Amino acid sequence: MITDPRRQVPRTDALLADPALAAAGERLGRALVKGAVQAVQQRIRDGELPPEAAVDAVLAVLPATAGSLRPVLNATGVLVHTNLGRAPLSPAAVEAVVAAAGTTDVELDLATGRRGPRGEAALAALVEAVPAAEAALVVNNCAAALALVATALGGDLVIARGELVEIGDGFRIPELLAATGARLREVGTTNRVTLADYRAALGPGTGAVLKVHPSNFVVRGFTRSVEVAELAPALAGTGVPLVADVGSGLLAPDPVLPEEPDLQSTLAAGADLVLASGDKLLGGPQAGLVLGRAELVQRLRRHPLYRALRVDKTTLAALEATLRGPLPPVRAMLAADLDGLRARARALADRLAGAGLDARAVDSEARVGGGGAPEHPLPSAAVSLPPSFAEPLRLGRPPVVGYVDGDRTLLDLRSVPPADDEALAAAVLEVGLRGD
Ligand SMILES: *Cc1c(COP(=O)(O)O)cnc(C)c1O
Repeated sequence: MITDPRRQVPRTDALLADPALAAAGERLGRALVKGAVQAVQQRIRDGELPPEAAVDAVLAVLPATAGSLRPVLNATGVLVHTNLGRAPLSPAAVEAVVAAAGTTDVELDLATGRRGPRGEAALAALVEAVPAAEAALVVNNCAAALALVATALGGDLVIARGELVEIGDGFRIPELLAATGARLREVGTTNRVTLADYRAALGPGTGAVLKVHPSNFVVRGFTRSVEVAELAPALAGTGVPLVADVGSGLLAPDPVLPEEPDLQSTLAAGADLVLASGDKLLGGPQAGLVLGRAELVQRLRRHPLYRALRVDKTTLAALEATLRGPLPPVRAMLAADLDGLRARARALADRLAGAGLDARAVDSEARVGGGGAPEHPLPSAAVSLPPSFAEPLRLGRPPVVGYVDGDRTLLDLRSVPPADDEALAAAVLEVGLRGD
């Protein structure tokens, strides 16, 4: 008997009325489900699927959420991976985001019924975490903080040539600063700058002296730079603020990363303002943190541009919970000890090898990433697999992103929260046993 498959394609409204698909429509939106229905109808028409498999096929292609961003297991060993969304939020921060996502009291004092200061609790948490700061402000990211400083403090920005940094993806801090209309007054050379260079550059038009931490590279050899502690006394009494972009957002010194500057020490050394990202080593949401002297923070807050750069309620919620809640994942990953990482790698490799896969535990080197501590590898441990695993793992559910080293795929465990080891094993087994 010959039947035309087109005659048997289930109708759109019949499929959308199926209880499972109707429920999916309630959750994901009808348009999204309808799109999946139409794709499956086409596969039936093309003879790829039997008509009775339609509902299951639609359910299989529906995304988990109405957004298309998916959770990914980061086994790259790069703790703060910009392509993977930088810092994963702590469970406490995620809960705070969900709680704040609806209507919330971000700018209302419920006790008086009056308008309140926006995000006051998050700002208070920042100032408490960095006692050398009198006040704090939060904007979209550190680049926004730089743009606000350059605009609001204005005039000539004095900056060392060795600190004219490209952050990544072609973004260059000097170009960002120049785009605000500020004039850059470059001092020194690529490798050397002295206090006398800075002194000679000061004038009536100077808006600020800016120090930018060259976070993603190092200059070695015949070099000289002027640190905040040396610059601050030289600027005292001139009225010129000293602003330091420290980049990675360590609140205080971390013994694991002795060369990484931190907010508290930089302010204590005499900076008037410090700037940093919220989603690097602080382990919080994407944000630009500005801390320091109250009068300067207030000037930035009052500048019209601030309104275009301020953060939303979910960022404020995540930031506060990151600061006040339990250790965020990035901090735990930095602190993880090598023996623990090796034990996890062995347990995973034994399990995978027990299932017949070519898996073994190896030592590896992890990185801070996100343009932090470029010269500071972190000792780590990984599961080593054949190279053919890299692509199917990346395309799996959940996607697992490792890296290829020589002729092996490595899954580094320092960047994977221990709670995800089970999901990691399941994803590798799924790929490894697929062909059997
Ligand atoms: C990462 C970085 C920036 C950019 O921060 P974003 O939060 O990504 O805008 C600026 N300056 C320094 C020194 C950095 O390390």
